[in-house]
Amino acid sequence: MEKKQLTLIVPAYNEEEAIPLFYKETKKVEAELPQVHVEYLFIDDGSTDRTLEVLRRLSAEDEQVHYVSFSRNFGKESAIYAGLEKASGDYVAIMDADLQDPPALLPQMLYSITEEGYDCVGSRRVSRKGEPPVRSFFARLFYKIMNRMSQTEVVDGARDFQMMNQKVRKGILSMGEYNRFSKGIFGWVGFKKKWLEYENIERAAGETKWSFWTLTLYALDGIVAFSTFPLKFVSILGLVFCVAAFLAILFIIVRTLVFGDPTSGWPSLVCIIMLVSGVQLLCMGIIGQYMAKTYLETKKRPLYLVEEEKLEG
Ligand code: UDP
Ligand code: MG
Repeated sequence: MEKKQLTLIVPAYNEEEAIPLFYKETKKVEAELPQVHVEYLFIDDGSTDRTLEVLRRLSAEDEQVHYVSFSRNFGKESAIYAGLEKASGDYVAIMDADLQDPPALLPQMLYSITEEGYDCVGSRRVSRKGEPPVRSFFARLFYKIMNRMSQTEVVDGARDFQMMNQKVRKGILSMGEYNRFSKGIFGWVGFKKKWLEYENIERAAGETKWSFWTLTLYALDGIVAFSTFPLKFVSILGLVFCVAAFLAILFIIVRTLVFGDPTSGWPSLVCIIMLVSGVQLLCMGIIGQYMAKTYLETKKRPLYLVEEEKLEG
């Protein structure tokens, strides 16, 4: 019987230092995966350093190494999509280039899929060791809010590091949306999923691409992509303000009838006008976010453009 193939999809953006380390470590694990033929598929996400040269060299030396290079930086979500589209393996795994996703888990993941009947094996870190406490706090808060608002489960600490079979791969590819929030997409497709847990590992080399600000924007994008709760919230808020205004009118009418009409209270009027117009702007902003996403979605732009690639065969 011919050997099955496992494709490792590795998004890489400015990872010239990390890729050789990743390659070396992962090669070591190959010995523990005798039942499959391992293929490496690096996605160079428009790196501005020597990542592409490193990949060209690696693929010249090792025929198991393939790569796709984007015309510019399209983001990790697009890189994952491209990887899933181009991967030829029976099983595919998504891994970061910085060794924060331990390759040592691969044999266990493969075992769960081939022997235990799972379709997908995800990984989650149970600690956030080495991360600034403020960041951890907001990350936890985000997962709480997200899971309250959305039907789709977004698991706290879940990494993009996972292995899947063809069913799951096709499921994910069928979601061709432009605003890709992978953590939601992976949850949305369903299937039989197993979780492996591990302690957080710090980056082997290079720097993280995320700042507090970009993470915040990412979190907001995630909410807009997988929940319409903010829109409901806007409607409810509108209703609450209408009721409050109605009660206030009643109060004023009664007060005027009972006590006459002393012309006072304009400072409170100013406050009320500012409050209400603030709330209106906020609500318009929330609706605007959804409109903006819809606008981008209707353009049907490609998720990525390839400048150079070396694939199997
Ligand atoms: N990455 C990417 N495109 C980007 C940003 C990141 O392909 O625009 C890759 C990056 O090279 C790495 C992975 O995504 O392999 C995770 O990035 P990073 O380590 O910066 O994120 P963190 O682990 O800090 O969440
Ligand atoms: Mg990382």
